[in-house]
Amino acid sequence: MPASVVAGNWKMNTTVSEAVALAAGVKDGASSAGNVELVLCPPFVSLTAVRDAVQGSAVKVGAQNMYHQDSGAFTGEVSPGMLQGLCEYVIIGHSERRQLFCETDESVNDKIKAAQAAGLKPILCVGESLEEREAGKAMDVNSGQVRAGLDGVTDASGLIVAYEPVWAIGTGQAATPGIAAEVMGGAIYEALRGIFASAADQVPLLYGGSMNAGNAGDFAAQDCIHGGLVGGAALQADQFLQVAAAVAAAKA
Ligand code: PEP
Repeated sequence: MPASVVAGNWKMNTTVSEAVALAAGVKDGASSAGNVELVLCPPFVSLTAVRDAVQGSAVKVGAQNMYHQDSGAFTGEVSPGMLQGLCEYVIIGHSERRQLFCETDESVNDKIKAAQAAGLKPILCVGESLEEREAGKAMDVNSGQVRAGLDGVTDASGLIVAYEPVWAIGTGQAATPGIAAEVMGGAIYEALRGIFASAADQVPLLYGGSMNAGNAGDFAAQDCIHGGLVGGAALQADQFLQVAAAVAAAKA
């Protein structure tokens, strides 16, 4: 059974001082999350401060993105090497990056490889749009994004895959646990098995999309769901900790 993980994607929210306060709140209550690995993903400018704020606890830090090149004339970008020492995880291929910043399966694949080469643990995000779901393409879209994002990747250690149906992100309309389990235990797991064989069994699969304290336990009660990638509910320490506690209880 993979580790249970609850990661908070703070997106473009929090000033540095707000980020420190939020991280301190999570650190203070982290024991309520049991064995669940807690990962905080603040904006780049707060990584150092959040790393320092959670020091001495089991709370981990992640970035929300990175570029795949080591250095050079890439104005505004952040390299894998720059993240080393600041965070352990990095979210790759979030649907907002795919939709708003033109990220493709190819660029996602470059980033996954570069993250692993730098010793960072990538959280690969996949998920279908509403149009794709209504057209009956959800399974194909998700398995395709997993296969393309991991093309040429041979090491599953440290990898996490998050299923985030685009229609459920930030809408308050979470998927049902049944829908999530169909995609995660079906298309996503099968694609991972095809790439990594039995090592796929150790890859944590997170659900993301309007997850909150009220529904997290139902998602985590599914065998194929090992935690969550949480947006809105991660911006309040108590709500984030309640999500993690619900996951911990479901997995106990
Ligand atoms: C996300 O952005 O990864 C996310 C899941 O957001 P929310 O929980 O707000 O839907």
